[in-house]
Amino acid sequence: MAKTAQEPSVTKVTAESEDAVAKIILQSIPAEAKITAVRFEGPNIALYSKNPKFALTELTYYLGSLSKTLKKRFIIRTDPSVRMPEESTRQAVVKLLPKDVQVSAVFCDDATGEVVLEVNKPEAADPNMIVQIAQSTGWIAHTRRSPHIPSSSISTIHSTLKSSAKERTEFLSMLGRRIFRDSLVVRDVSETSKDPSIPRPPGLSTSKEEVMLFCLGGVKQVGRSCFVVVTPESKVMLDCGINPGEMSGLDAYPRLDWFNFDLDELDAVVLSHAHIDHQGFLPALFKFGYRGPVYCTEPTLPLTTLLQMDSVKIANANGTYLPYEGRDVHEAIKHTITIPYGKPTDISPDITITLNNAGHIMGSATVHLNISGAHNILYSGDYKYARTQLLDSAVATYPRVETLITESTYGNSSDIMPDQSYVYQTFSESINRTLKDGGKVLIPVPAVGRAQEIMLVMAKEMSEGRLTESPIYIEGMISEASAIHMSYAHYLGQDVRRSVQQGINPFQSEYFTVISGYGKRDEVLNDPNPAIIMATSGMLEGGPSVEYFKELAPEPKNKIIFVSYQINGTLGRRVLDGNVSEVSMMDKSGKVKVVPIRCQTQKIDGFSGHSDFNQIMNFVAKIKPKRVLVNHGERTKSENVASSIYSRLKIRSGVPDNREIVRLR
Ligand SMILES: [Zn+2]
Repeated sequence: MAKTAQEPSVTKVTAESEDAVAKIILQSIPAEAKITAVRFEGPNIALYSKNPKFALTELTYYLGSLSKTLKKRFIIRTDPSVRMPEESTRQAVVKLLPKDVQVSAVFCDDATGEVVLEVNKPEAADPNMIVQIAQSTGWIAHTRRSPHIPSSSISTIHSTLKSSAKERTEFLSMLGRRIFRDSLVVRDVSETSKDPSIPRPPGLSTSKEEVMLFCLGGVKQVGRSCFVVVTPESKVMLDCGINPGEMSGLDAYPRLDWFNFDLDELDAVVLSHAHIDHQGFLPALFKFGYRGPVYCTEPTLPLTTLLQMDSVKIANANGTYLPYEGRDVHEAIKHTITIPYGKPTDISPDITITLNNAGHIMGSATVHLNISGAHNILYSGDYKYARTQLLDSAVATYPRVETLITESTYGNSSDIMPDQSYVYQTFSESINRTLKDGGKVLIPVPAVGRAQEIMLVMAKEMSEGRLTESPIYIEGMISEASAIHMSYAHYLGQDVRRSVQQGINPFQSEYFTVISGYGKRDEVLNDPNPAIIMATSGMLEGGPSVEYFKELAPEPKNKIIFVSYQINGTLGRRVLDGNVSEVSMMDKSGKVKVVPIRCQTQKIDGFSGHSDFNQIMNFVAKIKPKRVLVNHGERTKSENVASSIYSRLKIRSGVPDNREIVRLR
C-alpha cells in the first residue's frame, strides 16, 4: 500500500523533525545509556553514547520496540569523547583478545567510531568481546581475517576513508536527512521545503503510484548494465557498467544522455557486484558531479576498487581513453556504504533494499527493492542458482516479488552445463593432453571470481592425481583478488569457509607460482617445459594474458582454454569463434607485429558463475514473480528465456530495449 495522509504521523519522520525524533527516543530510553546525540545518519538513526557497554547490551531491548514504532533502524555509535587514539586502541585490543589471536592491522574510522581489526581468527571476537572492546577503547569493533599478503585495495580504501572522515560525517548526516525527508506524495513540496538546506530531488515526474524502469544499458546485450527505477519519491540506479567490447561512448557506456536527468536527482546507486560491466562507469558519475551514496556488499567495495584502479593503470600505461581518473575512484569510495546480506536498508523515503547472495562472485548480490510496500522488484544482477567450489547458491526465497529482472547470459535452451565432475574431468584431460605434447596451456581469467574458482579446482585435481603435476604460473591481479577473498572469507561458500576457519588458505598451494615483472614472464615463456599459465584479463583485452597470448598463439602444440564468458567484440571472443587467423599486435619494442593464431583453443562452460538455462528457469519458478523482464544476454538468448518463461511457467515476460521505459505499476 502506498503512503497516505491517514497513516499515523509518527511514521513520517521528516527532516524538520530530527529534533522531535530525538526527543521521542530520549524519552523512551533509560538515562543510563548516556546518549549525547541522536542524528539521522545515512540509512540509520544514530545514537551516540558515552556508556557503550549499556548501549550495546541493555539499550538494544528498548530500541527493538522503538524501531517498530518509528519504522526506522538504529545504529549505536560511541561519543567521540570516549574514543581512545588509534595506537592505544591497538594496545588495548591486543590485551583483551585471547593470546592466540594475532592482530595484523587496526583501522579506526573517525566518521563512524568503528574500528576494523584484521586478525588471524575473526571468530574470536564474539559479541561479548565486542562489548568489552567498546567499553575499554570507545570504538565499536568489526573483525576481518588477515590476508596472506597485504591487500593494496584495502589499504587504498582505508587511507581514502581516513583522509575524508570529516567530509564523510557531513555526507552521512546530509544523506540521513535526505532519506528521511518528508514524503512528496502526502504533502506538497512547497509546504515541506521550509529548510532550503535540505536537499530534495527536483523535477519528479511520475504520478502518485507509478513505478517506472528506465533501461539505460545491458538489455539485448551483455555489458554496460544500468537501470534507473523511478518512483513518485525517488530515483535509484541499479548498476553502472561499461561494455568492454565496444569503443564508442554511445555503445560502451550507459545511455545517461538519453535519460537526460540531473545527477543530483539520483537518490542512490546500487551495485550488484564488482565486474566492470556492472560498475565500470561508476567513477565517471563522480567525475560528472554525482555526490550521492553507492550501496554494495562489503567485499564488492575492495573488488570494485581493485578493478577500477587497474583500469586507470592500464589506461595511463597504454595512453587509452578512460572516462574517469584515480581521484574519481577515491570519490566513489568516500560515498560508498556497505551493507551485509539480508539486512533491509532504507535508501529513500519509499525504497528499502535488501542484498542477498547471488552465487556469482564473492559479494555478488541480488537486489530486492521494496517500494512503499506496494511493489517489489528483484534485480538478479549476475547469479548462479547452483553451488560452486567457491560459493553457495543464489538465495531464492522471497515472500513477494512483483517484477523480476533476470539475466540471461546462458539463455539458449541448449545452454545446459554438464555436471561438475564431468566439467573437471574434461578440463583436466584437456590440459593433460597439451602437457603431454610438451605444450603450454594459457587460461585467461577474470581476476575476480573465476580465477579463485579455477585455482581451487586445479589444486584439488592435481593433489588427487587427475591433473598431471606441472607448475601453475599465476600473473595479474589474481593474487590481490585472492587476498581480498581471504579477508572476506565469511562471504564464501560453506566448504571453503570451513577450511579457512581451520587455518587452510585455499589460494596458496605448492603448485602455484606467482609471476611479477617482465623478466619472470620471459623465464616462463623461454622454459621449454610444459606448464599451465593463468593470467588476467579473461577476455584477452589487455593485461598479461595478452602478452602470453602473443607468444603462445603461433605454436600448434599450445592451447588456450576459455573458462569465462567472452563478450562480443573482444579478442577472446574472436579467437574463440575462430574468426581470426592472425592479429596485429604491438610487440615489446612498440612495433606492430602480426601474430598468427595456430594454437588450439577450447571453451569449457561448466565453470561459469552464471546460471545455465535450466537454473534460470528453476530460479524464476522458485521466485514466482508476477512479471519477468529479461536482460544481460545476447538478444536471441534473452528472447528465448522470455518466451520459455511464458510458455512453461505462464508468467508474463518480455525483453525491453536499451532506451526503453517500462511501466511496472
Ligand atoms: Zn558478473
